[in-house]
Amino acid sequence: MFSDSYLSVTTVADRQPSDSVGRLSKRVESGPVGGARAEVVICGAGIAGIAAAYHLTARRGIAGVVVVDERPALSLTSDKSAESYRNWWPGPGDAMVALMNRSIDLMEDLARESGNVFLMNRRGYLFATAQPEQVERYVRAAQEAATLGAGPVRVHRSPGTDYQPAPGAGFEAQPTGSDVIVDPDVIRRHFPYLAPDTVALLHARRCGWFSGQQLGMYMLERAREKGVRLIEGRVDRVETAGGRVTGVVVGGRDGTRTIATPRFVNAAGPFVRDVGRLLGIDLPVFCERHAKVAFHDTLGVVPRHAPMMIWTDPVRLPWTDDERAELREVEALQHLVDEMPAGVHGRPEGGGDSPVMLGVWTYDVAPTEARFPVEFDPAYAEIVLRGLTRPLPGLAAYLSRFPKCIVDGGYYTKTRENRFLCGPLPVEGAYVLGGLSGYGMMSSNGAADLLADYIAERPLPPYAPAFHLDRYQDPTYRAQLDTWGDSGQL
Ligand SMILES: Cc1cc2nc3c(=O)[nH]c(=O)nc-3n(C[C@H](O)[C@H](O)[C@H](O)COP(=O)(O)OP(=O)(O)OC[C@H]3O[C@@H](n4cnc5c(N)ncnc54)[C@H](O)[C@@H]3O)c2cc1C
Repeated sequence: MFSDSYLSVTTVADRQPSDSVGRLSKRVESGPVGGARAEVVICGAGIAGIAAAYHLTARRGIAGVVVVDERPALSLTSDKSAESYRNWWPGPGDAMVALMNRSIDLMEDLARESGNVFLMNRRGYLFATAQPEQVERYVRAAQEAATLGAGPVRVHRSPGTDYQPAPGAGFEAQPTGSDVIVDPDVIRRHFPYLAPDTVALLHARRCGWFSGQQLGMYMLERAREKGVRLIEGRVDRVETAGGRVTGVVVGGRDGTRTIATPRFVNAAGPFVRDVGRLLGIDLPVFCERHAKVAFHDTLGVVPRHAPMMIWTDPVRLPWTDDERAELREVEALQHLVDEMPAGVHGRPEGGGDSPVMLGVWTYDVAPTEARFPVEFDPAYAEIVLRGLTRPLPGLAAYLSRFPKCIVDGGYYTKTRENRFLCGPLPVEGAYVLGGLSGYGMMSSNGAADLLADYIAERPLPPYAPAFHLDRYQDPTYRAQLDTWGDSGQL
């Protein structure tokens, strides 16, 4: 499978010690690639490429892995994430839940071995509604999630219930599955900061957040210890002969060089389609622009230990009568007066004394070209903050004196049904790890583990076909796409 000649020239260990996870972030090489030969060349040092390098080397024992990126590691989409994770995914089938459970297992292993250097917590995702008709829908959703493998359901209908809130830090010894809370006293007792008309909560438990940069840098460091080399440059061409990958042409400050390799992994994030074209393959992905907003909750409206909160009802933004009248006069702004889509969500960010609160609302998405720097709707911060006042009425205190907000984001690179692409491509020796959408930080370990199984020719997990490009060749699957339903995007 892996030739000795490759192994002998490519185990050029890059073992410079480092005492800090962050210090390596900008350390890329621009000199000649050791031996100009590699066992595997990965295009992209986002979380996907780094996780792939880590799993190939540290967990599969494959030497001679080179990662090529024209930007510093983890600086494009992987720098923009809200860094949340969940095993809470819809069907059809259990592939997403199984993959995420595997990914979370792997992240927990990494958290344990590293002393939780990336601060993984297990606060859960708290879905909330004020619509009584949603109550039984929550129960059904929780039951469905249980059948897909997310864990058991506990329904809390009376004040004496044994609902256990999540701790602010850590992830050990926590329940899986979900708690559906419909008793008003229990809701008020544990979540007094939520809207008083909240009638039901669904607390999905194998969910939380972590530092994506720290996770990525920890994996990069482990991969470097196993000889992975991070090369600065742009993958301009993938060479093939007889239908097989033979080399990768990298352009950079020092000119162009070719790395001879039998394997190429396309982990190019929002450019995965462009890099696919270098192999003559049109990958079925598109990009959507997504942003998050950060502001200081100086009044402490949201307790620092709060979970991720997602309001599942449509929202009408709070405006004064005058503001409403003004907005109605501008056609492009009228939608801000109408009912806006469900799904505004937010959470506290940062430990210790951090006052930062994050908010996200996917109220307006359309496929677009990936262009950098990314530009966002100048009104996004205000719209999100106003939207968040529905589940968290205390935030209305900021509307008269608007806090400084930072809006940041990037692109979700998605397939039509929002399931990523992982596995071999029609050109022998070429692989893809892309289309990680809005869940690439949480899924990267599971996805890279799957990719490493393909490359190491190990037995594949049952969920592998759900992420293989050739699923689109199956007429039954293609027909299913037309009636897919919920894609799991928040
Ligand atoms: C606003 C927002 C919020 C999000 N929130 C979450 C969240 O809460 N949880 C979660 O799990 N995920 C979240 N995501 C999604 C997550 O950030 C992405 O899925 C993930 O970062 C994608 O990683 P990637 O490695 O595929 O791409 P990237 O991080 O974009 O990396 C791709 C790399 O490829 C390089 N590259 C491309 N073409 C070439 C070339 N030809 N030559 C050399 N290098 C090349 C680029 O320079 C780049 O560094 C969010 C995303 C956004 C935008």
